[in-house]
Amino acid sequence: MANDSIRDEVRAWLEQHWDPTLGVVEWRNKLADSGWGCVTWPVEWYGKGLAGSLEAVVREQFDKVGAVGVAAGVGMSLAAPTILGHGTDDVKSRFLKPTLTGEYKWCQLFSEPGSGSDLAGLTTKAELDGDEWVISGQKVWNSGAHKAAYGILLARTNWDVPKHKGISYFAIDMRQPGIEVRPLRQANGYSTFNEVFLDEARVPAANIIGDRDNGWAIALTTLAHERGANTARRPKFRNVAAGRCVAEAAQESAEYFSTYSWYPQRAGRPDLVPVQVRETGQSEDPVVRQQAMVVATQERLNRWTVQRSVAARKAGRPPGPEGSLAKLNGSLLARLCNAAHSEIVGAHGMLIGEEGPQNGMVNEVLISTPAMSIAGGTDEIQHNIIGERVLGLPKEPGSDADQPFRQVRTNLG
Ligand SMILES: Cc1cc2nc3c(=O)[nH]c(=O)nc-3n(C[C@H](O)[C@H](O)[C@H](O)COP(=O)(O)OP(=O)(O)OC[C@H]3O[C@@H](n4cnc5c(N)ncnc54)[C@H](O)[C@@H]3O)c2cc1C
Repeated sequence: MANDSIRDEVRAWLEQHWDPTLGVVEWRNKLADSGWGCVTWPVEWYGKGLAGSLEAVVREQFDKVGAVGVAAGVGMSLAAPTILGHGTDDVKSRFLKPTLTGEYKWCQLFSEPGSGSDLAGLTTKAELDGDEWVISGQKVWNSGAHKAAYGILLARTNWDVPKHKGISYFAIDMRQPGIEVRPLRQANGYSTFNEVFLDEARVPAANIIGDRDNGWAIALTTLAHERGANTARRPKFRNVAAGRCVAEAAQESAEYFSTYSWYPQRAGRPDLVPVQVRETGQSEDPVVRQQAMVVATQERLNRWTVQRSVAARKAGRPPGPEGSLAKLNGSLLARLCNAAHSEIVGAHGMLIGEEGPQNGMVNEVLISTPAMSIAGGTDEIQHNIIGERVLGLPKEPGSDADQPFRQVRTNLG
């Protein structure tokens, strides 16, 4: 469909329906029913079945009138695309709408103390009891789990087959007696991820996503979306006074993104490098100038790689190697920023709070940047993925991938 006709259609719909006095959930229900909130989703599932390239055209019209879009966050970036791709109609009908309206907030329950990089080695177990699964085990690093209503969960349902073949994928209600969420305190002072203990937690059998024991294939969909470039787009609300809907959406967004307030520092704050160079009077120093230029160059390269990834999505191609490349580039930039900031401020970088450079922001950068090389799959794992799946190199030798999982040594023994 041509850009112009879509532009006219969405503009006309917004003229008729956008009402900033509505509650945000009521408005998003209208969006869901109209299909204009998630235009790339199928028509039968709250979308319009449009190509990704038209998403920007629609968003532009929303921005023009200040209309609120669907909820942001793990629900829309990870859970919803996975459910759309693999859920039964029953799962789709129960979870998609409240996720896009923001009524269901989600977290990701994948990593465990003994299985992060080796995610398929997870030992959280799920056993069928009548029409419910009973889940026991421990998860860790779970961002935002303390605020989530639902979790996307991987658990082992078959111990007699190789590790990738005995995992199932569930949508689990976080607010139940069998789940305890314990916040972790990070080195940078924040507390945004958690340990999650599951002690005979219950999941209705109908909440399995995809087939029993086939959860690894489903998890790959989630991980591909996680590596994609646009998972954390933060919506902007310019005119909060416009009405209840905008105010509620802005409040929801502030609450959600407070979990991620240190993420710009985690990414290295390349914007602060030239500011610091000037403010510390080092613009004539050849070594400092060189480091600032390396940061600026890498930042530009990263932006282009992300644009390539976005263009691929718009062209309707599934997430591909650009995601792994973009992720590696992000870690590299964070490390370059870390080195440049350290060179510029020297030992002052150890000062926190108001006494530190940029009100302690530089210290926060220095402590937070290592997380870039870990979150969403470490740099080493990204290298393996690129080697094996993009370059076609042989798999790592000596793997336990073909043994029945029961025979594999784990932290359970
Ligand atoms: C900020 C942040 C947010 C996160 N949020 C979530 C979340 O919401 N939900 C969730 O489930 N998880 C989350 N994680 C967890 C993240 O996915 C894991 O930390 C990551 O996959 C690494 O696992 P690990 O910490 O167990 O490290 P390990 O797997 O123990 O790795 C330790 C080291 O060994 C290296 N290594 C391991 N295997 C290999 C190999 N085969 N070849 C070469 N080197 C190897 C690694 O690269 C790393 O340097 C988050 C992590 C961070 C930092």
